[in-house]
Amino acid sequence: MTITEMRRLLDERGLQLTRSLGQNFLHDGNQLRRIVAAAELTPADRVLEIGPGLGPLTELLVASGCPVTAVEMDRRLVEILEHRLQVRSVDTLAPDSAAPGLTLLHADALVWLKRNPRDWAGWKLVANLPYSVGSPILVELAEADQPPDRLVVTLQLEVVKRLLAAADTEDYGLLTLLIQLRYEPTGWFKLPANCFFPQPNVDSACLTLVRRPVPLLDREAAKRFTRLVKIAFGQRRKMMFKLLTAAWPEAQLEAAFKATGIARTARAEQVGLEQFVALTRALAPA
Ligand code: SAM
Repeated sequence: MTITEMRRLLDERGLQLTRSLGQNFLHDGNQLRRIVAAAELTPADRVLEIGPGLGPLTELLVASGCPVTAVEMDRRLVEILEHRLQVRSVDTLAPDSAAPGLTLLHADALVWLKRNPRDWAGWKLVANLPYSVGSPILVELAEADQPPDRLVVTLQLEVVKRLLAAADTEDYGLLTLLIQLRYEPTGWFKLPANCFFPQPNVDSACLTLVRRPVPLLDREAAKRFTRLVKIAFGQRRKMMFKLLTAAWPEAQLEAAFKATGIARTARAEQVGLEQFVALTRALAPA
């Protein structure tokens, strides 16, 4: 889809783009193909796209032959997509639906994901995400009982750096840990601003995250991990031992810190994923 075609579609309808919905459309064919290649789609995959916009990525995903579910919030864009891709949109979806071809859902994806928990095994998210809700959407999917097999997402570069970060760096934090508990980053590339229309005023990148074949923690322990890291990063400059005493008895914390070799004086940003996983296990209820 060329930039001229995008302009024409918008002009024909006198459509003004909504900045708060992150409406920056990707028109660079090479970059779109790189994104689809990163998804490594096979005929068995089902694809979720969040924010199809005018549909440049959607077209390529549908051409792969996999069933695609695309969720778009802006009614005006849904109408354009219906016309361009010859599909009728729906407002709700059966929990197990994965019809062949394209299913176009008119919904706020974050609200929809929260209200409709489902088994995402066998699914891949391939999306140029709306930047304002990119992180919560990723967390919502990662925390599903069965998260998608792979996430290939275009986001602000700044968020991609947080998702890739290691302990003891500025970018490392709650988002890093909530996602890396379930996923391993396997590659990323930068997308120059001139690949988008209109050009965003932040840098963007496409990141691939592959679900860990064996979860690091079971479901109950993962909930404890989330609680733990949320408290630990509540005030990232403070000693996390102190912060955690609000939720765990001091004696239990002391034994768990000792068993996992974490210093009582450590701040959350100094503690790596494996250590947080070990601490979560050590803090299991007796
Ligand atoms: N995929 C298209 C592309 O690459 O050109 C458009 C990507 S654009 C960055 C983000 C899209 O997400 C926009 O079409 C916007 O209307 C849509 N959007 C924004 N917030 C949304 C939400 N909460 N749920 C679903 N779609 C949303």
